[in-house]
Formats: sequence, structure tokens, C-alpha cells
Amino acid sequence: MRTLVRNGRAALPDRLLDADVLVEDGRIAAVGRLGDAAAERVIDASGCFVLPGLMDFHTHVDDQIGRFYLADTYESGTRVALQNGITTLCTFVTQGPGESLVQAMARARAKAEGHCCCDVLWHLTPTTFEPRDLRAMEALLAAGYRTFKLYTTYKAAGIYASYGRIEELFKRLAPLGAHFMVHCEDDEVIAGVDPVGMDLAQAHNHTLLRPELAEVVAIRRVVDLALRHQAALHVVHVSTAEGAWILVSSRHLGDLSFETCPQYFLLDDAWLRRPDGHHWLCSPPLRPGPERLRQMVRAGAADIIATDHCAFRPQDKDDWDGTDLRAVPNGLPGIGALAHVTWKIWEDDPDRAALGLATHLALNPARRAGVQDRKGALLPGLDGDIVVLDPSGPERPLHSTLEPAFEAFPGFSSRLAFRHVLLRGEPRVKDGLLVEPGRLDGVPLQPSTATLS
Ligand SMILES: [Zn+2]
Repeated sequence: MRTLVRNGRAALPDRLLDADVLVEDGRIAAVGRLGDAAAERVIDASGCFVLPGLMDFHTHVDDQIGRFYLADTYESGTRVALQNGITTLCTFVTQGPGESLVQAMARARAKAEGHCCCDVLWHLTPTTFEPRDLRAMEALLAAGYRTFKLYTTYKAAGIYASYGRIEELFKRLAPLGAHFMVHCEDDEVIAGVDPVGMDLAQAHNHTLLRPELAEVVAIRRVVDLALRHQAALHVVHVSTAEGAWILVSSRHLGDLSFETCPQYFLLDDAWLRRPDGHHWLCSPPLRPGPERLRQMVRAGAADIIATDHCAFRPQDKDDWDGTDLRAVPNGLPGIGALAHVTWKIWEDDPDRAALGLATHLALNPARRAGVQDRKGALLPGLDGDIVVLDPSGPERPLHSTLEPAFEAFPGFSSRLAFRHVLLRGEPRVKDGLLVEPGRLDGVPLQPSTATLS
């Protein structure tokens, strides 16, 4: 089957080009002036940008966080993703108690297969670091896995890795091609905060419990370790301009990248002062004065913009007695808003905005995930994941999730209209709605672990 997307403004990795895109048998076959190409299916992209399928590099779905099960399943998370131009959803699997890493991967795959509207990719979080875990990580790398997630905090949740542990993993696994994603908030800085005298009924005090200093200290330490051991490091959800600056100024020394999330450059700590401010509790917290980070993002400083989507049901967010904010689950929804709020960074310059999406929501995340040979760009040979984006659609409010969860960006609206989204060459979205709502043929991008022990 050949599909020709005609007359659009195509976002190539380095520039925009008025061009047609030909997709054949699920893959991009050609990009350029192809007016006379024969195709069974023709899509008119006049007045629209043509982008590679987008990725959300950082989401949590179908998982239990603390006491609560997340609102989004693989199905609902991938559905809102696809409707908003995301053709690959990256999400996490955390090694459970008594579970091997291979078993954890198999568990996630079993839940996802046959239940996804778009493609999925996992980042794996080891928690026990025993010799068998290290051997499993080596075997997974040999099988084609790339990304491991580590935390410098959350001792009580059992996912903490000390700097010594992180260094050991960098030394052993970096030469094998591992990409490390690290949540940087220094546990000692956080433990040193004395909550006595703090009014913990006020959600706003979360900014004192998890101060900016914790992020800055942890980023410095982990960057130093990564550079010393030549490890590929990606720092997740950077929330401070200072943290971002450390990464920007060290980037030329090694394989460093970072992401930030729309909540950290669009929202500020005033949201936590609302009567329902506890809904906006997330880690790291919303910060005062996000303008500096927003300026850095606008200048292209952040490699990746991702959501850290972690949607809790309203009754779960509200399940506290109003006296101690530490009982409130941390996380915000965002998948459905990602493209729209990223566009806003450059909305005064639509060409720049389209290139921004192609770079920070496709090319860079595909490279960091190690799937640039299949995803992330409009290049011949790659999967035919194509987004036909009309920047001048009717104005509408954002929906970060389709599940009953509170909206993280209330009052925000968008005119972006997803006229067409193709997944591996198949038309899956028309005017923002799924063409065949029951179709669940998204696939995991990583190989099965069936042959690993
Ligand atoms: Zn996260």
C-alpha cells in the first residue's frame, strides 16, 4: 500500500521544506516533490505542517504508585497520545519485590500487548542491584535495550540508588551502550529539611520540602560521575533554570541530555496556593519564577520536552485529611496536552514551533531511546509515522487525559488540529478522533525478553 501526503510543509531534521511524503508498506519511501507519484491513498496536507510521529519520552501508565493505581491504562494512555500526534509512548517498568528484571519486562509486555493504540517503549527501573540484576541488564543491552532509570531519592519507596551505586552502574554498563535516565533530587538535602514549624496543610510548602537546591546538588554530582565514566546521561524532568544551566554548560564534555516538562516552564508555585492546590503536587515541585527556564527552552536548551504524565483519579488526589501534604500522591497528567503546550513556546513563529516539535518531541527522544533507525524523523526507511498538523483549527480546551482525572492545564486552549495521524503508514486519526476506536495494534518497539533468563 502506498500513501502520498501531498502539499504539506514538512519538518525535516534540520529544516522545513514544502514537500510530499510517500509512505510504502509502512515505511517512509521518499520525501520531496513527488507530484506524479502513484499512490492508492492521497492525503492533502495543504496549509498544514507534516511532522514525524511525536514521542512522549516520559510517562507513567498502568502502574501503582504508593497506595494508588494510576488512572491511565496502556489503552487510555496510548489513545489520548495518538489523538494528539504521539505515535510512540515511552513509559516505565519498575522491578517489583522478588522479581527479576526480565520478569518485570515480561510483565509489562503482557499488560501492553494487544492493548495499545500507538507504539510503546519501556525505560526499566532496577531496584535491587544484585549481581543477577547486573547480569540481566547486560543481557538486556545485548538484546537491544538502551534505557535504565535511576533515582537519587525515594529511599522509603525502595527505588533509591546512592551515588556510589550509580557510579558502579555507569562504570559497568556505559561501555555496553546503556543510556541512563536519572531523577536528580539529592536525598540528603531533602532529609536535611526540618518540617517542624512548617504548615504541612499548605500544599505550597512542598516547595520547601523538596527545594531547588536538592535538584542542583544531585545534577552536579551525577553529571560529574557521567563525565568521569563516559556514561550517556539523560536527566529527567529538570525543574530549575540552575539545573538546566549545569547541563547546558557541561554538554560539550560528554553525552549529556535533559528533559523538562511543560508544568515547570508554564506553571508556577502560585498554583499550589489555590484552595485545590494539592492537585498540582508533583516531584520535583512547581517552582516560583519559571520565566528563566521558559526562555532557555525557547532558545532550544532542553533536548527533550516530555510530560512525566502520572494521572491520579480526583478521589485519590483528595484522599488526605488536609493536614499533611505528604499523604497526597505526586504527579500530573499531560500526554494530551504535550504537543499543544510545546507549540506555545514558539507560537509567535509557527515555522519555529513546527521545527521545535520535530526536534524536541521526535528526533531527540528517538535518539535517546535508541530507536532513531525506526522513529523520530521524516527520512526514507523509517516507520511511516506521520502527523498532519493544522495550526489554525478551532480553539479548544486541552485534555491531558481522557480518564476522569483533574486537568493540569485548566484555562489553556489550543488551535492545533491533528488532521491526520498515520501509524506505520496506516491512517489512525482524522481530525483529532480515532478512525477505528477499537483498533489496538500499537506494538512494543523493544524485542521480547522470552529468550532471556
Ligand atoms: Zn516520572
